[in-house]
Amino acid sequence: MSSTNNSNSDAQNIIADEMQHLSLGDDLELGSPMKVEETPNVKSMDIETGDIDFEYENKILAAAHGKRPSEFFSNGDDVIEEALIDDDKSINPHFSYTEEQMLKDQDAKIRAFNTLASSPRNSRSSSASSFSGHGRRPSVIVPPVPPTLSITPKSSKVNSKFSYNPTTHEITPKSSLSPSIAINPAAAQRDPTLMQGKQKLDQLKSEFSHEQNFKLGSILANDHNISAEEAPSIELVSLYKQIKWCLDTRKKYQDVSIQNPDLNPKNSENWKIYPSPPSPFWKAQNNRQRNLNHRESSKENNYTNSAVFDFEKCDIPGPDESTDFVADNEDTYQIISTKTKEKLINVPTIRDYYMDLDKIVNIASDGPMKSFAFKRLQYLEARWNLYHLLNDHAETSESKRNPHRDFYNVRKVDVHVHHSACMNQKHLLRFIKHKIRHCPDEKVIKRDGQILTLQEVFDSLNLTAYDLSIDTLDMHAHRDTFHRFDKFNLKYNPIGESRLREIFLKTDNFIQGRYLAEITREVFDDLESSKYQMAEYRISIYGRSEDEWDKLAAWVVDNKLFSHNVRWLIQVPRLYNIYKKGGLVQSFKDIIDNLFRPLFEVTKNPQSHPKLFIFLQRVIGFDSVDDESKIDRRFYKKFPFPSKWESENNPPYSYYLYYIFSNLTSLNHWRKNRGFNTFVLRPHSGEAGDPEHLIAAYLTSESISHGILLRKVPFVQYLYYLCQIGIAMSPLSNNALFLTYDKNPFPAYFKRGLNVALSTDDPLQFSYTREPLIEEYSVAAQIWKLSNVDMSELAKNSVKMSGFEYELKKHWIGHEFTKVGIDGNDIEKTNVPDIRVAYRTETLQTEHELIEYYNSIEGV
Ligand SMILES: [Zn+2]
Repeated sequence: MSSTNNSNSDAQNIIADEMQHLSLGDDLELGSPMKVEETPNVKSMDIETGDIDFEYENKILAAAHGKRPSEFFSNGDDVIEEALIDDDKSINPHFSYTEEQMLKDQDAKIRAFNTLASSPRNSRSSSASSFSGHGRRPSVIVPPVPPTLSITPKSSKVNSKFSYNPTTHEITPKSSLSPSIAINPAAAQRDPTLMQGKQKLDQLKSEFSHEQNFKLGSILANDHNISAEEAPSIELVSLYKQIKWCLDTRKKYQDVSIQNPDLNPKNSENWKIYPSPPSPFWKAQNNRQRNLNHRESSKENNYTNSAVFDFEKCDIPGPDESTDFVADNEDTYQIISTKTKEKLINVPTIRDYYMDLDKIVNIASDGPMKSFAFKRLQYLEARWNLYHLLNDHAETSESKRNPHRDFYNVRKVDVHVHHSACMNQKHLLRFIKHKIRHCPDEKVIKRDGQILTLQEVFDSLNLTAYDLSIDTLDMHAHRDTFHRFDKFNLKYNPIGESRLREIFLKTDNFIQGRYLAEITREVFDDLESSKYQMAEYRISIYGRSEDEWDKLAAWVVDNKLFSHNVRWLIQVPRLYNIYKKGGLVQSFKDIIDNLFRPLFEVTKNPQSHPKLFIFLQRVIGFDSVDDESKIDRRFYKKFPFPSKWESENNPPYSYYLYYIFSNLTSLNHWRKNRGFNTFVLRPHSGEAGDPEHLIAAYLTSESISHGILLRKVPFVQYLYYLCQIGIAMSPLSNNALFLTYDKNPFPAYFKRGLNVALSTDDPLQFSYTREPLIEEYSVAAQIWKLSNVDMSELAKNSVKMSGFEYELKKHWIGHEFTKVGIDGNDIEKTNVPDIRVAYRTETLQTEHELIEYYNSIEGV
């Protein structure tokens, strides 16, 4: 325990230094007042919004779109920009952006507060202006108003525990809350005794029922002057119908590819995890064991997994004779019945996919829809501000009452981290030095027909172990990599030498990845001893040759790289053009074959690749990686099928995603039928480049990494909110590559209720401490003033978003975690107060109720 504490305070010191560094760096990036004087011709608008890379990204956008309308998404930016300028009139240049943001938040809260407190009776005007700030131009679309009561919905929501009032956006529990408890917040502020009385009442009520959860200034709900208003406009109903179509389309794609975790066989009750999960206190026993030099025998499952794992004990099922697989004429693998030769499922064709994609792109760039979505998002944020203002205290006291749990001992999963960068620099440095000192004569690499020892490699570099430092290693990405992904890729080479990367950071090399396995083992040990941290490591399959899968599986199984704190994702780099140039592949179909054929073979007959079968049990799904800011132009009006894709051009992002998706769909069906675990698609999306990537991912993927470009496409962001698509965000990584920390949209997403988590991406390049995930949380907490409750909520999101088996998740965040709302929340495990969960659930439910409601109106 004490050592953990030390490391935490260490971490904080280092982070404090880092913060200083960060803010200095940012000032330079941003054009602080000083910078402005130096460069007087920077446009004032850019300075005010602080969005200098805005222009840069717009250029990329415009370039990316070639023949498409050049104004593609830019109108949405205008909306946002206008709003920013509007609010920025009172900027004091001496404030930092964070302070300023805080003041703005505070302002917004007070405005919302005043509006509510002062004018409850002229509800129409107040509800319209309460979240639009002061003096903003009214838009074409008025916020949803309720229809006359004579229109009856086709179906009314049956299970809702709450009634929703569309005029006020107010939800009240159906076991109605008595007016005497609702206190005018303004009055409460004047008279503190009133507040105390309220707390007592609240306490009484919470003992009484679970339903009265949080306050949103219930004053509006009790206003009897509110009456139903005119029928909704045709425009509004049509917007809601389009939204509904988008939701249904995503559902169609997700259902057909079986990405819903509830349907994954590994999440069923009878799924056996081998080696079985550790029993409580396992680490304590394990440490003692180590001290006693393994003399004391202990229960088998209290060893680490790698010690217990025995390949011989694994059960490898036999072949499936009833089903077979074949590539169809669009180069997607289909599963067919062996007897009838008929296709067993209907995978959406590439034509369907591009039609759906284009339709959503069109909807997303439609002016009224952008304004509408932008307003819904603003409303969600304003609602959060009001909620937070009124319930902050209640939340804190609820989490204080919760014994034992705090942010440090809630489970958190690093849902986006690349394996070859999973160790920190100091760790890698120590490992390299250790190897030079202790095994200099080991033969490690073959270059130009010559086999070199480690000593010879370092001699050729003119380096000794003593010379090595973090500075010579030069793997940190902070200043020189901004908007230079190419430079960032080179940071994977220690000392800028690809030889060292080959020796130390590759799984498939002259020493069969032994060094990387050793260092991975050490990283696993660190994770296991921290107990509350888990990780999902991305590991590459390139699709260059067909034996990649078997080699990777053998690396994992032979080195016994198993841990209950770790699962794998397969990252597929989008590098067709490079393999094509190098003559490794003929057409894009070769990549599809190398990627998927072994997976279909092992599903048909696990005994054909036994190690791969075992490895795949720990694989969650697929990721698609590479520099998104590379331009992917539409070369063709209609894309050729993979076997015809023989040009040297790289297929676009959406094309890669479709072919992973379509093959995954067939594979998942077969695996589910056989009772094997199924896979999900969780690509990098919206880190840079074309926002269309986010729409492709919206259709095909279970969740995404990054998503920072959602800030530019309000409609797509709103869809991500409605579907609660997981977004693993890495602000520290963005800060070094594409977006400075202060401009990161994370806090806005979080307030609005998007399903976000924090993750590290590449600890080797971005972190300074031994606990990169905690570093990520603590920097975010410091800059954005996240409370303990916020951090616990993020941690809970990360567990839910992750691909660990339900058996483990139940242990980590509660047995009922799959249930909706507070029924699924176990504060004793998650440290998230019920009122927070209730707020999130009901806000989301409200949005869905509105969609259902307006879709049920006929004849408009
Ligand atoms: Zn990444």
